[in-house]
Amino acid sequence: MAEEQYQTGMAFDAADEYRPEPPPAPEIPAWKDGSRRIGIHTSIAGSLAGALDIAHGLGANAVQIFSASPRMWGGGVRIQETDAARFRSRRAELGLGPVVIHANYLVNLASPNPVLRARSMQAFHHEIVRAMALGADYLVLHPGSRQDASAESAIVSIAQGLQQAARGLKLGELRILLENTAGQGSSVGSRFEELKSIADACTALPLGVCLDTAHLFAAGWDLRTPGGLDSALSHMEATIGLSRIAVVHVNDSKVPLGARVDRHEHVGKGKIGLEAFRRILNHPSLAGRAWILETPIDKPGDDLRNVTTLWKLVGNPSATAGRSRVSSGRKKETPRGGRGKRKAAAKKNR
Ligand SMILES: [Zn+2]
Ligand SMILES: [Zn+2]
Repeated sequence: MAEEQYQTGMAFDAADEYRPEPPPAPEIPAWKDGSRRIGIHTSIAGSLAGALDIAHGLGANAVQIFSASPRMWGGGVRIQETDAARFRSRRAELGLGPVVIHANYLVNLASPNPVLRARSMQAFHHEIVRAMALGADYLVLHPGSRQDASAESAIVSIAQGLQQAARGLKLGELRILLENTAGQGSSVGSRFEELKSIADACTALPLGVCLDTAHLFAAGWDLRTPGGLDSALSHMEATIGLSRIAVVHVNDSKVPLGARVDRHEHVGKGKIGLEAFRRILNHPSLAGRAWILETPIDKPGDDLRNVTTLWKLVGNPSATAGRSRVSSGRKKETPRGGRGKRKAAAKKNR
């Protein structure tokens, strides 16, 4: 026995082992390798870097977070460089991408109230600064709520507010994405013509679009049928242009078609349904987009189940295998489509 071990040791002298040179740093980030990107919004309540581990543990290879509390005016909240550095290096280790930041819900660049609008511009400025510090790829913003202002003036306010918030900052690779809305109340952005007008008016800032399936359905686009999906996509192509869409929020809807309220449901368990999501995720016009879940966590494991569902829908059911089955277990922080707290926040924001 002892002799055998000795001989084995001789046969595999570690010093003789061929060690290839480390590959040169890639010019294109690893996540842009063309592979399917499925992510989920996770909580930063533990730590910023912890949110990455939660996503990875759930089997996601992309992630969305808030960079600060989503319902508090953290106007001046900066991230410590040590925390930002830990986040960036952990993200590289896990190969997660894209990293998407969802902006604070209180930011309302369309507000006709000058105090709230100024506060919103300052808060969004800090959103950009934090997103840059974290090395994020996208920063998603709801266009805002215009209250009693006209749609035209709201569009000008949003475009000017965005440009002012970004003034003096070199965004680099970071791209700001406007999210389509459900059309609740006086919210701007349920119509793609509005998103296009904002993007056109933002001459100093290239804007992309984040498409939310639950919002699209609540705004009246019938995604349940192949024809309905195609007509929604051709309308988007004719207005904002599909090339602007970088991220899709994959949420089923608790409310029926055209209900104009924002209520997210587990993928396949709502009014849109599983087969519709299979078509959406595999539609050639949407190839290459990052797919991010903002589904509720009603009971432990819901987050893992939704991630697993998406991998199955894209024909890669083993993608989540071997991952630790952790669950974020934190309910409050995940975007859940206009629940109580968010409604209260929206009221305060007028
Ligand atoms: Zn969304
Ligand atoms: Zn929503």
